[in-house]
Amino acid sequence: MKKRFVLGLAIFTSIFLLGGIYLIITIEKATSSLNNLIELHQVEILREKLLIDAKDVQSRLALQRTRFAGTLNAVVKDVAKLKNQADRCLECHHTMAITERLQDLKAQISAYSSDLNSLFTIGTNETRLKEDEKKAFEAGRKLVNQLDDMISLTKARLEKGTQATLKKISDMKTLIFIVIALGPIFAISLVIFFMRGLTVPLAALLQATRELKSGDLSFRVQNLTGEFGEMAAAFNEMAAALNEQIHKMQRAEQMTLVGEMAASLVHEIKNPLAGIKATMYLFQEEAEIREEERAILSQAIDEVKRIETLMKSLLNFAKPPKLEFLSVNMNDILDGAFSLALPFTHSTPNSAKAIRIEKQFDPHLPLIMADPMVMQQVFLNILMNALQAMPNGGTLTAMTCATALDEEIQIEITDTGKGIRDEVRGKIFQPFFTTKSKGTGLGLAISKQFVEKHGGTITAENNPLGGAIFRIILPCNQNY
Ligand code: ADP
Repeated sequence: MKKRFVLGLAIFTSIFLLGGIYLIITIEKATSSLNNLIELHQVEILREKLLIDAKDVQSRLALQRTRFAGTLNAVVKDVAKLKNQADRCLECHHTMAITERLQDLKAQISAYSSDLNSLFTIGTNETRLKEDEKKAFEAGRKLVNQLDDMISLTKARLEKGTQATLKKISDMKTLIFIVIALGPIFAISLVIFFMRGLTVPLAALLQATRELKSGDLSFRVQNLTGEFGEMAAAFNEMAAALNEQIHKMQRAEQMTLVGEMAASLVHEIKNPLAGIKATMYLFQEEAEIREEERAILSQAIDEVKRIETLMKSLLNFAKPPKLEFLSVNMNDILDGAFSLALPFTHSTPNSAKAIRIEKQFDPHLPLIMADPMVMQQVFLNILMNALQAMPNGGTLTAMTCATALDEEIQIEITDTGKGIRDEVRGKIFQPFFTTKSKGTGLGLAISKQFVEKHGGTITAENNPLGGAIFRIILPCNQNY
């Protein structure tokens, strides 16, 4: 948007700058044409004056022997005026050709004036006087004719020059009108262009805000670029964060509700269940009951135990215990979890279905602050899952290590089981997600919750050689 604005202003300014320069040049040209025209008019006036003066002298010559003849002084004055005018004509700047013609004219005037001088000053006989008079008159006539020619020539040039200058002025007027008319049109178009650039994205953002207000948190602003694109990205991020936050809040509310329900359920069921279990154990001890009945009783006791475990898990998940942090070595806790899990392998060491245990513990693993019971529970959940994933035997590897500056420790539990299918991998940490017929789907959800309470992370991926890898990272310098 900023770029667009700057570009628009630059175009606008350049057009007006160029238009202004063109106007100034045109006005300059028109003014100089007008100056030329004025000069030509001045020249014409001078020539006309010259012609009038020449005609004056000629008329004095014609009236010389009449009663209207002027004094000698007047003639001398007129001749001097004639010479003066010719000198003034030569003062102006002309082309070579015109200067030559003017000099020729000046020479003619000088000849004419000397003819007149000799006629008016030298007293002589009648015949000579008549000849001089004729000569002077002839020179005057020639001068008048030449001046006439020159004036008509100047007039034609003047006419042409005037037409051209008037055309230039008229063109300039048209151009000024065009600039005056186009200026506002261009400015309005530019404003509309900018307004559209502003209003369209603003309308999109406003619409998105309304959608958000109406509760559609999945609405996202699209197809905006530049600064508005950044705003849209920030808006979309905000909507996503809001969506996640609301989901978290809803989940927390649900959890509180489930926790309360689980607590009251466990409270209600715990005692009758313990009574049922104890009675069943007693029946099992009876000597008179048959073997099939004993097996059924044992099955029923297992189911009651399962219900008890489920109740415990549910309570654990919905109302997690308050953690008690101690300085612990994770190798020891992992070892403890192994001791609890191994009785569930149900395999003899050398059978085809044997589970091989490999412990690659870092002997220099730093101590960290953690709740040992809770972390043992986490490891036990993962180990039990791994054992269940290898019904036909395999290798269960546990590895611990610390990062370079002892900032974090990493625990990896790897099995060689069937692995986690891609389509379920994103869901395995969700509560109640299970692919097992008798699973609760709470083991990994509880584990994730516990690990996160320690400021750590838990992730799962498939081992390229087959099986799954669960990785837990815990911070070493967490203050609780
Ligand atoms: P449950 O064990 O009761 O099903 P969990 O939360 O412990 O609940 O596990 C959720 C699901 O994650 C399991 O049902 C299983 O599909 C998958 N899973 C967990 N651990 C493994 C593993 N080591 N290998 C393959 N799948 C696993």
